[in-house]
Amino acid sequence: MNNFTIQYLTDRVLSSTSYNKSKNDPEANVSLSSRERQLLKELQDCKQRYAITVKAISDGVWEWDLSSDRIDYSARWKSMVGSQEWEIQNNPVEWLVRVHPADIGRLKQNLAACRQGKIEQFEMEYSLLHKDGQYRFMRCKCLAVKNVRGEISHLIGSQTNITDRRQIETRLKHYTWYDRLTNLPSRQFFIERLQELSRLDRDENYLFGILYLDLDRFKNINYNFGHLTGDLLIIEIVRKLKFCLRTQDILARLGGDEFAVLLVGFDDPYYPSEVASRIQQEFSEPIKIAEDSILITIGIGIADPQLAEDYFSTSSKNDLIGSLKNAEIAMVQAKQKGQACSKVFESQWHLQDLEKSRSADDLRKAIEQEQFKLKYQPIVRLKDRQLIGFEALIRWQHPVWGSVDPANFIPLAENTGLIVPMGWWVLRSACEQMAQWHQEFSVESAFISVNISGKQFSQSYAGDIIAQILEETGLNPACLKLEITESEIIENIDLVISTVEKLKCMGVELSMDDFGTGYSSLSYLHCLPIDTLKIDRCFIQGMERDRHQLELVKTIIKLAQVFNLDLVAEGIESELQLQQLVDLGCKYGQGYLFSQAVTPAIAVTMLQAR
Ligand code: C2E
Ligand code: MG
Ligand code: MG
Repeated sequence: MNNFTIQYLTDRVLSSTSYNKSKNDPEANVSLSSRERQLLKELQDCKQRYAITVKAISDGVWEWDLSSDRIDYSARWKSMVGSQEWEIQNNPVEWLVRVHPADIGRLKQNLAACRQGKIEQFEMEYSLLHKDGQYRFMRCKCLAVKNVRGEISHLIGSQTNITDRRQIETRLKHYTWYDRLTNLPSRQFFIERLQELSRLDRDENYLFGILYLDLDRFKNINYNFGHLTGDLLIIEIVRKLKFCLRTQDILARLGGDEFAVLLVGFDDPYYPSEVASRIQQEFSEPIKIAEDSILITIGIGIADPQLAEDYFSTSSKNDLIGSLKNAEIAMVQAKQKGQACSKVFESQWHLQDLEKSRSADDLRKAIEQEQFKLKYQPIVRLKDRQLIGFEALIRWQHPVWGSVDPANFIPLAENTGLIVPMGWWVLRSACEQMAQWHQEFSVESAFISVNISGKQFSQSYAGDIIAQILEETGLNPACLKLEITESEIIENIDLVISTVEKLKCMGVELSMDDFGTGYSSLSYLHCLPIDTLKIDRCFIQGMERDRHQLELVKTIIKLAQVFNLDLVAEGIESELQLQQLVDLGCKYGQGYLFSQAVTPAIAVTMLQAR
C-alpha cells in the first residue's frame, strides 16, 4: 500500500464516521467510536510501515498528485540521480528534464495516456541524467489511481536502476554481434540489420544490393601458413574490402572465410556489380604478410537490386533475407565457374534449388514411409509373343503429385545417394513377388529383371546383400537378371567385376541395359560376363524411318550372335518394328505393342494366361 492509498483510506474512514459529523456539526460530541479509533490506528501504522519500506528499498518511488501537479520523490529516487533530499523540488520538471531526449517523447506519451485513463499502467526503460553528467538506465513502472469519484487523481510509480544489467547485455551483445578478430558485425548482427531494413517503408528508388563473398581455398592457407598468418591475412583482407566500400555500406563477417556486404542507397542498378569488380581488381595483387606473399581470390555472389525489385514488388516485399540467400546461391555458381569470379543471381537458380531441396526431402520421407510401388513390364519371345519374364519398374506414389515416373526422381536419387536404399528395396520386393508367383502359378521359368544402380554395385558388400535377398525370399538365382547401364559402372569397374563374378557363381544373370547409348559398351563386353544385351528403345523407334539406325540395330544383333548373348529389344511399339526385329534374328523384346508396365494384379492374369 502506498502513501497516497493510505491517505485516501484514512479520508474515507473519517468522512464516513462520527468524527466527520462532529466537524460539520460543532454541537455534536467530538468523539470517535472504538471501532473507528481502531481503524484509524491501523491506517496510521500502515503509513509508518510504508515510510520505512520506501526508505529501505533500493527502488526509487514517486507519487504525483495531479490536482496540485506536485510529485513526492522518495529519498532513494533522489539519490539515484546523485542528489540530496533538499536538492530536488516537488515538481515533475525535476524528473522530466533529466530524461534522455531520445526517451522523453515516449515517456510523456505514456504519462498522458495514463492521466487520460487510456491505459491503467505502463512500464518503460529510459536513460536518466545523473549529477555526474552520465546517463543511467532506469526501468519505470507507473500506475494510475482513482479518487472516490472515480477520477484519476494520482499517478504512482517506482524506478529501478538497470544500468548494470544493461551493461552486461551490451557486452554480451557485442560478443554475439561483432566478430572478435576483425570487429566487423557478425552474421547475427547482419541478419538483424536486414530484418530491420526489410520492415522499413522505403522509397522505391532507394536500392539495396547484397554481395556474398567467399575466399577461394582459404582452408589451404591456414594449413600451409598456420592460423596466425591466416588471422593476419583476414585482417588485411578486411582492410582491403573496406577500401572498396563507402562508409554507409555494411561489411559483415559471416563465418571463417565468408563475408557479406549490404550496399545501401544508390541509384545506379549496376552499382553492386561495379563494387564486385572493384573488389576483384583490389585482390588481383598478392598480399604481403611478413615474409610471405599470398594471392587471395574471392568468389562473389551478387543479389541484383533490379531483380530484388521484382521480388519486393510482389509477395515478399523488401525480403532482404531472401536476397542474402540469393547472393549465396550466386556465390556458389561463381565458385563453380572458377577462382576470382563474380556472378549475379538469376531467378531460375532459386527455383531449381528450391525444388531440388524440396523433392530431396520428399524422397527421403518417401523411403521411410514406403511410398514406392513396383510395376512389371512383360518381356516376351518375339516369334510367338510368349511371356518369358518381367522387368520391375519403380513408381513413386507421391501424396500430392500422384504417380511419379522414375525419369523424374532417379537422377535426384542418384545425386543424393538415396538410390542405394531405394534400389535394395526394389530388389527385395521384386524377388519376393517373383518367388511368390513361382509358387502360386507353377511358372518356374519366368524371370524377373531388376535395374541396379552403379552406386549399389560400388558398395563392397553388394554381392552379399544380393545373396542374402535371394536366400531370404527363396527366389531361384537363375530367375534373377540384374540390369546395369554402362554409364553407371564405368567408375568402379574393378569392384563391379569382382561382385559380378560372385553372382555368376550363384547363377544370377547380367543384362547390359540401354545398350548402344554409351561410349564403352563394347569394352564392357570383354571384361564383364554379360548374358543379355538390351537394345535401347531410341534405336528401335528410329529404325523404321532412319536407315542408319536400322544398320546399327543390325550390327548390335550380329554382335550379340558373335558373343553368344541373348538380345532384348526395348520399346517395340509397332507391328512393323516387331517384324523387322524378327527378320533380323532378335529373339526377345518388350514394349507397348505387348504391354506397358502393369500392376501385380494384371501381371498375375498374364502369368495365368501363359
Ligand atoms: P529402362 O530400364 O530402360 O526401362 C525401360 C523404360 O522404357 C521404362 O520406363 C518403360 O516403361 C519404358 N518403355 C517400355 N516399353 C516402351 C515403349 O514401347 N515405348 C516407350 N516410349 N517406352 C517404353 P520407366 O519405367 O519410366 O523407367 C525409366 C528408367 O528408369 C528405366 O529405364 C531405368 O533406367 C530406370 N528405373 C526404373 N526403375 C528402376 C529401379 O528400380 N532402379 C533403378 N536403378 N532404375 C530404375
Ligand atoms: Mg531397365
Ligand atoms: Mg533400358
